[in-house]
Amino acid sequence: MPLEKVNVPIYENLIGGEWVEGDGLVPVQNKYNGETLSYITKASKEIVHEAVNNALMTYQEKKLTVDKRYNILMKAAHIFEERKEELALTIVHEAGKVLKDARGEIDRGIQTFIASAEEAKRITGTGIPIQGQPGQEGKIAFTVRVPVGVVGAITPFNFPFNLTAHKVAPAIAAGNTVVLKPAEATPIIHMKLVEILLEAGLPGGFLNVVNGIGRETGQYLLEDERIALFSFTGSAPVGRHIKRTTGIRRLTLELGNNSPNIVHKDVQNIKRAAHLCVTKGYGNAGQACISVQRIYVHRDVYDEFLKEAIKVVEKTKVGDPELADTDVGPMISEEAAASTESWVKEAVHAGATIAFGGKRDGAVFYPTILTDVTEDMKVVCEEVFAPIVSIIAYDDINNAFAKANYSKFGLQTGLFTSNINLAMQAAQELEFGGVIINNVSTYRADIMPYGGVKDSGIGKEGPKYAVQDMTEEKVIVIDTL
Ligand code: NAD
Repeated sequence: MPLEKVNVPIYENLIGGEWVEGDGLVPVQNKYNGETLSYITKASKEIVHEAVNNALMTYQEKKLTVDKRYNILMKAAHIFEERKEELALTIVHEAGKVLKDARGEIDRGIQTFIASAEEAKRITGTGIPIQGQPGQEGKIAFTVRVPVGVVGAITPFNFPFNLTAHKVAPAIAAGNTVVLKPAEATPIIHMKLVEILLEAGLPGGFLNVVNGIGRETGQYLLEDERIALFSFTGSAPVGRHIKRTTGIRRLTLELGNNSPNIVHKDVQNIKRAAHLCVTKGYGNAGQACISVQRIYVHRDVYDEFLKEAIKVVEKTKVGDPELADTDVGPMISEEAAASTESWVKEAVHAGATIAFGGKRDGAVFYPTILTDVTEDMKVVCEEVFAPIVSIIAYDDINNAFAKANYSKFGLQTGLFTSNINLAMQAAQELEFGGVIINNVSTYRADIMPYGGVKDSGIGKEGPKYAVQDMTEEKVIVIDTL
């Protein structure tokens, strides 16, 4: 389509502070009503090459002092705060996230920026007691942390503001330059974040943006060997592909999960546990990497838990994400909702029971509770990434731990118990990047270390940990003899 005929905003690519037209348009739709909100212009291989070139030259030729990095990130946080409602509505429209959750995501992203700004001031190496080793008399050694260079950031659609913040803000705090490839389903909020960073004083070239679809633009970026570190959040199959493609370059992979949550018979408040498990299974229409998916409940409290869970889901308001009281909006696409429906049908065919929900209307999949599931059903053993929870009874807590661990994923897990010894056993035996006691797997404070084991990824996010990854610890030795 000729660009002059387009009557919605077109987002281009950003190189050295200049907007660069790409090669072909990709529409961005409102996920609830299908309206076209904007287009992105796709970055060709040449544009990606130029974006990396510019980021590398900027890294080599210009430096931002720590104070400048701090001030730019803090100023951006301030502008986000001022434009919070507009930013939240952008997420509502292009991601289908319900308004209250979209506002929550902006709040979290602001905190991620502030925490990253603070980390910029804490970058330091360590002294090394080198003279303690025989033969090292007269040597003095210490380390300093230096930026890695150009960071390639590739983001998913489901938390498009805060997860972009988790890559871009620490990378700038650490003194790197960045080439960002936004999720094509939700590029508008990415572009607003970028525009605000420029407004906050980030000079051109410190953050370049290449728009487009993953297997084209994303792939060109992966193949550019001048990128020192990739920070990727997305699905496990794409993560696996990135690991294969990027060879010996540094890599952080934040991938999927099929989060188990265990409710033991000594749970202090079963209503609270049921409320948390259900609402955090349906938050963002279940499209969160740590969304509650498998709920293992001790048989003594199973009936009561199921009754309470159904009470919660009965009250859930489903529909237009822009309404202030909607709890569950559309999924990212009708195809995603249809695929969810087929997984549920497959499970029912194999013996599962729909205790509640199971319905689809276009891209909206209604919150669903499944029972009588088995561990080999896709709704249990794969990442469901939809508003579905499965409730499974257990008799022996060790068996519940074994089932929780029996997964290719290992991002986060939750356990409800009032027994401190059991909590400590869980902390040691559950094979996950995070074990949350008396809350659900979905719990995340943005300053904590966050990342998984097994197919859930490599490395940790959280500003302090990301800054550490995005800097190189260089050793300096002085021979005083
Ligand atoms: P996705 O893997 O389909 O896409 C993520 C990004 O990768 C997009 O920007 C996409 O364009 C890009 N991409 C796709 N193919 C590529 C390729 N060949 N080369 C380079 N880039 C490519 O994921 P999604 O559907 O956007 O997000 C959902 C997934 O993300 C879920 O699996 C979810 O669990 C995971 N996720 C993980 C975390 C975490 O912190 N662990 C957080 C949010 C989402």
